[in-house]
Amino acid sequence: MSDARIYLDHAATTPLAADVLEEMQPYFSHGGYNPGSIHAEGRRARAAVDSARERIAAILHCKPKEIVFTAGGTEADNMAIIGAARAARQRGRHVVATAIEHHAVLHALRALRDEGFDITLLPVDQDGVVDPARFAEALRDDTVLASVMYANNEIGTIEPIVQLARTARERGAVFHTDAVQAAGILDLDVTALGIDTLAISAHKFYGPKGVGALYVRDATRLEPLIHGGGQERGRRSGTENVAGVVGMARALELADRARDAVNERLGRLRDLLEAKVTASIAHVRVNAKGVARLPGLSSMSFAGVDAESLLIALDLAGVAASAGSACAAGSLEASHVMAALSEASQGGTLRLSLGRGTTPEEIERVASLLPSLVASQREGAVLSV
Ligand code: PLP
Repeated sequence: MSDARIYLDHAATTPLAADVLEEMQPYFSHGGYNPGSIHAEGRRARAAVDSARERIAAILHCKPKEIVFTAGGTEADNMAIIGAARAARQRGRHVVATAIEHHAVLHALRALRDEGFDITLLPVDQDGVVDPARFAEALRDDTVLASVMYANNEIGTIEPIVQLARTARERGAVFHTDAVQAAGILDLDVTALGIDTLAISAHKFYGPKGVGALYVRDATRLEPLIHGGGQERGRRSGTENVAGVVGMARALELADRARDAVNERLGRLRDLLEAKVTASIAHVRVNAKGVARLPGLSSMSFAGVDAESLLIALDLAGVAASAGSACAAGSLEASHVMAALSEASQGGTLRLSLGRGTTPEEIERVASLLPSLVASQREGAVLSV
């Protein structure tokens, strides 16, 4: 038995890839001057930022000027949602989203509600999928914005955003998608997707933390949230994170290149894990199993088990996993996503998210650990009644 830790929390964050760090390194020192300076050092930094923008635009199939760099996914979501709603407030004050959006979206919507916007949060079915007919019905003449995530961070469900975006745009509403979990895994061709704005975050695809991007389709009106020196064509002021954007470009290129092969491999490992767990443990529900979902993410609900205790037991056994989402600063409050899937909401839910480095041996090990850990949780639950 190996003492090595097993990391199955790639949906929370991924380790920085060695190639990415190598490309970032010079920009932490002599390459990382201010891109706004007119001297040669500044121009070199500017060239690095411009090139990062072009490289990311090539993967998103958009114009470089449609990419706005941000300090991560949360900021990109806030910029799109608050920025688009405020820019359109003379036309209407209604926004549609889903009940299973990330807090970066839900709490931005809460802020809009405090400004007088009317927010409709659509329910999802038991697999976490939004019904396109219900979405269409929710759009009103005063709907200015709709926001539906590309893939969910807790259960991995992939939403039908092509269809939803088409409907929203036909009705004159801006369509935003939070693609933070999808980036590096699913196709990010913004023209094929037909969306207006799309948020990504580098640390989810083996890039650095604290850097992200928002794609903003030409002619989409957004009010800036951050005011200052007018960087990013006035849409996001602040001296650019040169090393960060260079790292993000490299990370996205690497992820995009390896995407099909990695997805195939992780899908097989995920299926193996779920097959072993469901064969050896009774009363397990594999969430979103029957629908399109992210290949490396498995969400399983165990009846009669407390998720937090199971996580601690796994951690002690050397496995880093998560209950639902890890994004709320380590909190383990009840998940709004699980609450939205009525059928799945009983029991403790474990999120195991695989990554590039995950091996079949690790999956075998976790599958062999879980039956006894779940059994002792269930025995404990019975004893404490
Ligand atoms: N949106 C989703 C779906 C996420 O999973 C996350 C992060 O966990 C975010 C937004 C926030 O991104 P960041 O951590 O870069 O602020």
